[in-house]
Amino acid sequence: MQFPEAFQKRMQATLAEEWPAFEAIHQQPSFTSIRLNPAKQKPYDLTKIAWTDFGYFLPERPSFTLDPTFHAGTYYVQEASSMFLEQALKQTVDLTKPLRVLDLCAAPGGKSTHLLSLLNQESLLVSNEVIRSRASILSENIQKWGNANVVVTNNDPKDFQRLNGFFDVMVVDAPCSGEGLFRKDPKAMEEWSEDNVALCAQRQQRILADVWPALKQDGILIYCTCTYNAKENEENIGWLIHNSKFKIQSLRVEHNNDWGVEEIIKNGIYGYRFFPHKVKGEGFFISVLRKKDEAEEVTMRTKTQLPLVSKKIAERVNDWLLHTHQLILLDDLIVALPEQFSTEINWLANNLNVVTKGTAVAMLKHEKLIPEHAMALSLELNRNQFTEIELSLDQALAYLRKETPLIGEGQKGFALVTYKNHPLGWVNLLGNRINNLYPANWRVRMGG
Ligand code: SAM
Repeated sequence: MQFPEAFQKRMQATLAEEWPAFEAIHQQPSFTSIRLNPAKQKPYDLTKIAWTDFGYFLPERPSFTLDPTFHAGTYYVQEASSMFLEQALKQTVDLTKPLRVLDLCAAPGGKSTHLLSLLNQESLLVSNEVIRSRASILSENIQKWGNANVVVTNNDPKDFQRLNGFFDVMVVDAPCSGEGLFRKDPKAMEEWSEDNVALCAQRQQRILADVWPALKQDGILIYCTCTYNAKENEENIGWLIHNSKFKIQSLRVEHNNDWGVEEIIKNGIYGYRFFPHKVKGEGFFISVLRKKDEAEEVTMRTKTQLPLVSKKIAERVNDWLLHTHQLILLDDLIVALPEQFSTEINWLANNLNVVTKGTAVAMLKHEKLIPEHAMALSLELNRNQFTEIELSLDQALAYLRKETPLIGEGQKGFALVTYKNHPLGWVNLLGNRINNLYPANWRVRMGG
């Protein structure tokens, strides 16, 4: 592996006698790790990742695409260092309280799905991605995870200025120069340059300046990148502290630091750096701040209310759900919003570009309910209400490729198809044939 010259020079100076170990580890393959969805999957009997309750190393990299339980949202493939978010959150936030949380740079959804596993049911996550196509992928991964207490938005950071003092917690996993990904993705080296580092640092400052008014007084900001240089990391934190009032939070890195995480203390700033020759994971940086500036919370006033479904339909649909929801009708789509968040979600929908909110339950066609795919994957699905058909591996893969496996012969109506008891989606049984209702744009294009 040939590092960019300027990068190598800087890292040699930073790492001194550790440089050969850093260089050598880049000749080794990356670890494969996953994070379980605790709402869908029991713990595995595999090597755990020390700083999270849900992460595991896999002995080798399987084909995730050909594992139906992956499509059922039972786990997320994520490198281990990023999962340290759990420590940042647990060590600085009271997770028993109802919280409003923003994940500002959220696609494809690693941190957001992790946050959903850590937050209680009374907390609401706003998962945002500025790039439209990436916001769709984010929405897909969030739907697979199954939580209803989340809104996916597609907004520029500056749009959050309308939400003064709204959030208790904010995660800014900033777009960066990606030095920590060189081992996993050597192509990242081609885009690297000193100029790009400076550009990234400037963009990160703009993002932080844009979004910080939306954080409450005493709210927590978690800033992270997957790069090593100080400009994009501790210097940006220094810049932020200089321009506003924050209390920097130190984190415990446990067991005499046998996690291998490096603590940086510089001009009163605490940051935590992950080097691949010291931790079982890729390069990463994380720092946590508590806002001390005054921030008056915005008053939620909405001009337009979301249209509700009729009482008759609401009764039928609420039987499909484990808890009573507010049911709204968007054109022909019935969407379930957790009742405790209906005001917030309504208000967010008036102020942001919302991609998905709550759970899409069904399409309403001439008084007939056609179940939506998100409903099959939802943690709110009342499975007692539906016929279930358990599929073999071959049948499950055929279903995910949107083929029509021969199942449910002679039966009629909508049925939930499962693999290893995990819901995969819907089919419409027509007696002598079936309609596969798997979303066309999620179709698996491998195998078979
Ligand atoms: N948090 C994600 C996860 O854990 O899966 C990874 C986020 S990635 C490091 C950074 C994200 O920031 C990308 O999805 C990128 O599209 C987005 N982004 C790019 N430019 C941005 C900008 N100017 N403001 C906010 N986000 C931006």
